Amino acid sequence: MSTESENDCEHPETSKEIKLAGKLVDEVLELCDENVFGCYQCGTCASGCPFVEEMDLTPDEVIRHIILDKKEVLNSKTIWLCSTCFICAERCPRDINITVLMEALRQIVLRLSIDETEITCLSEEEKKNIPQMAFVSLFRKNIG
Ligand code: SF4
Ligand code: SF4
Repeated sequence: MSTESENDCEHPETSKEIKLAGKLVDEVLELCDENVFGCYQCGTCASGCPFVEEMDLTPDEVIRHIILDKKEVLNSKTIWLCSTCFICAERCPRDINITVLMEALRQIVLRLSIDETEITCLSEEEKKNIPQMAFVSLFRKNIG
């Protein structure tokens, strides 16, 4: 039988449904001015990302989700693992700043008051495998 605290640690994908009234792309473009429709899915952003191995969606897949209004991207680990290193933004041949898009997606989730960052909910396996830089980035994003 699971305890209440264990239930609090369920992955948001299964425990919480993200409800967004409008189109995801409109919400994102309200927060930043990136030409998401200019993306031609070359994958350069994903190939240079230092955390892509840990991500459940690659950066190019994140953009595709935004364009196709696939709101499950808001439940992805990727947007929280992104360390805002700007490598993808520097390399994109279409000058799309994916770092800023990731931040916009995090802002959308935070505005919905969904906490994705409960560190005590990580398993020992996840603590071992998630790069330290991702933890540092997480604290920077959430501690004022
Ligand atoms: S590098 Fe730029 S154009 Fe290529 S997939 Fe990533 S966002 Fe799209
Ligand atoms: S800014 Fe985020 S998505 Fe882009 S390369 Fe760095 S970690 Fe990956």
